[in-house]
Amino acid sequence: MNPHPNETSTAVSQSTGLKLPVYLDNHATTPTDPRVLEEMLPYFVGKFGNAASKGHSFGWEAEEAVRVARERVAKLIGAAPDEIVFTSGATESDNLAIKGVAELCRHKGDHIITVVTEHRAVLDSCKRLEKNGYRITYLPVQKDGLIDLNQLQSAITAKTILITVMAANNETGVLQPIAEIGKLCRERGILFHTDAVQAIGKIPFDVAKLNVDLASISAHKVYGPKGVGALYVRRQDPSVAIAPQIDGGGHEHGMRSGTLNVPGIVGLGKACEIAGEELPHESCRVAGLRNRLKDRILALGDIYVNGSLDHRLPGNLNVSFGRVDGQSLIMGLTDVAVSSGSACSSARTDASHVLVALGVEDELAQSSIRFGIGRFNTLEEIDFVADRVTETVHQIRDLSLT
Ligand SMILES: *Cc1c(COP(=O)(O)O)cnc(C)c1O
Repeated sequence: MNPHPNETSTAVSQSTGLKLPVYLDNHATTPTDPRVLEEMLPYFVGKFGNAASKGHSFGWEAEEAVRVARERVAKLIGAAPDEIVFTSGATESDNLAIKGVAELCRHKGDHIITVVTEHRAVLDSCKRLEKNGYRITYLPVQKDGLIDLNQLQSAITAKTILITVMAANNETGVLQPIAEIGKLCRERGILFHTDAVQAIGKIPFDVAKLNVDLASISAHKVYGPKGVGALYVRRQDPSVAIAPQIDGGGHEHGMRSGTLNVPGIVGLGKACEIAGEELPHESCRVAGLRNRLKDRILALGDIYVNGSLDHRLPGNLNVSFGRVDGQSLIMGLTDVAVSSGSACSSARTDASHVLVALGVEDELAQSSIRFGIGRFNTLEEIDFVADRVTETVHQIRDLSLT
């Protein structure tokens, strides 16, 4: 549902000069960085070759661009270039990792462990496997959103072939103990997949240090274009084999057939290069903005931060507003593009499965907002949003008193 159907394009605030609405939904998608777009553009018209064409310079040019991009993606996560499989995005990467391992390891076991707060691409891939006879354990999370490692350990059976736990949650920004899970998986000889979409480029992420065997990446969450992503597949200690889910010309070591999206892949590569270079100072800057917004909002009183503040992405703030009707809040926050913790489905509103898993009661889940701060947000924008939230919450609370 779009609560602001008449607002189609940006306006400029007369009092502040800010472009409105202010975009604070960077977990949903990020704008393409102009430096990324610039790198992509030649590959649409002039350098349009098929990277699989071996007989002429058009193909070689495209192949070379893909090679550079593969190196850049690999470098960001501490992988080797030949461990990167390009896909159409993280939904496909999650499907490929989970179904690909399940299919190929069927003789070893039929049990997979995941977590209730995972992205739908992971949960629904697991549900599909469940229908096909696999057994899935959906681990609960604690009040702070983190899994209990002892519970994970207890869930492992002799038939467990895969553990899939996301690195950073897309709603709460909560970071799971990936290094500890990786160590456990390595000791037990179980493959470890992580949906690393929200973590990549935002916090340090190294597949070697973390003992990750498979990791999903999406370009449009790191200032790259939509419709392109990657799956990291470990090739050494152990060499991981997965069954392809898309058959055809045998591209990407046969793991993902289909003519490569060369401009998209070039964009993903450039986005990863920039993210790696800027991560150290950018994560501090964004955390500073987040903390400023958090302090302003907490000052309103009767505010509840959803998920651990200590184990959290720097750019995420997810809060519930006490004594505030969620619908009124979102409607009141014109000029601010954020997500709420409820999804409108025809008649009724469903609280987010992530907040429900954290034990957030229904009313507070309905009045929750996810603020996702990113590369292009400024201090002025954060102060504007804090002002608007403060005004709106006061208005709603004052009205409900009368
Ligand atoms: C956005 C997102 C996805 C899906 O990525 P697409 O590239 O849009 O398919 C998967 N997992 C997480 C955690 C996400 O945030």
